[in-house]
Amino acid sequence: MSPVEANWEALEADLADYLARKGLVPSCRAGCAACCHGLVTLSRLEGEALLPHLTEAQQSRLLEEGPKRLALLREGKEDPRFPSRFFQSRTPCPFLEGGLCGVYPHRPLACRGLLTTGDPALCAPEAKTPKGHFLAVPWRMAHRRMEALWEEERRRHGFVVIGELAGLLYLLLQGLPEGRGEVEGLLRELGVLGGRWGFQVV
Ligand code: SF4
Repeated sequence: MSPVEANWEALEADLADYLARKGLVPSCRAGCAACCHGLVTLSRLEGEALLPHLTEAQQSRLLEEGPKRLALLREGKEDPRFPSRFFQSRTPCPFLEGGLCGVYPHRPLACRGLLTTGDPALCAPEAKTPKGHFLAVPWRMAHRRMEALWEEERRRHGFVVIGELAGLLYLLLQGLPEGRGEVEGLLRELGVLGGRWGFQVV
């Protein structure tokens, strides 16, 4: 099993254990996909683990959606309100299929760690989501797993690339260069390097 798959599985086990110990039952359900309209980020290793599982139709949607996301990032990466503007634009994740995640077993850590026990209506873009609506501990657990994968990526490549899901997967599908300077050069040329919400190379 790859380190990415091991971290996906370990997070699922940690979450199940935590929820059972606390007697928490998430209200997240199949078909409830408000959070799949938000800005999701992942690292290169997670992207590389997800890519081989995409169907042809999913790859086609990615080829269509990737450049659009990169253009949005180029325009909005410095805007403090970019994530909420993006969320309110109700642009679905390219893997959302009939209200369900089309890559569910291979979805990123960021998707796995976002859970609520609250009213699902409060997850919607137009809702005034109260503070604490999303469970803090599951999110922290997911974040710790992300950090473990960043370390693994740094061991393998010497640096880590983190970016928006459709944009990063699109670039991986096109073939991301190997060296750090080349990757930074490409992202700079595309106008999506750095800023508040742009790609991070660290
Ligand atoms: S990968 Fe799946 S769970 Fe994550 S945002 Fe996309 S459709 Fe939703």
